[in-house]
Amino acid sequence: MLARSSVLPAVEVPSGSTPIRTCVGCRQRHPSRDLLRVVAVAGALVPDVRLRNPGRGAWLHPTSDCLRLAQRRRAFPRALRVNGELDESALIGFIESLDAPVGEDGQQPGLRK
Ligand SMILES: [Zn+2]
Repeated sequence: MLARSSVLPAVEVPSGSTPIRTCVGCRQRHPSRDLLRVVAVAGALVPDVRLRNPGRGAWLHPTSDCLRLAQRRRAFPRALRVNGELDESALIGFIESLDAPVGEDGQQPGLRK
């Protein structure tokens, strides 16, 4: 009863729709547009706002809550396959600037810098 490898697992991404990603903080699945892509560049975590960095990325809700969760479970080194320390200061600063006291609804946080 050998299954042939041509049988691919079902991927629940209908063509043309937004890909679903898992937040490395709270582990909830959301459209990638709601999440911030984070990459490791020269030993530092960098928000990849324009999705231009190639390679491995971690996805995170751009909130300090999810950032804290991700830090606690060391999710970034694991997701990015990095050994050792990652400088998180740039990412923390970025999320803190987004997390500024602005209305939750109706307001675009404005991921542009
Ligand atoms: Zn989250």
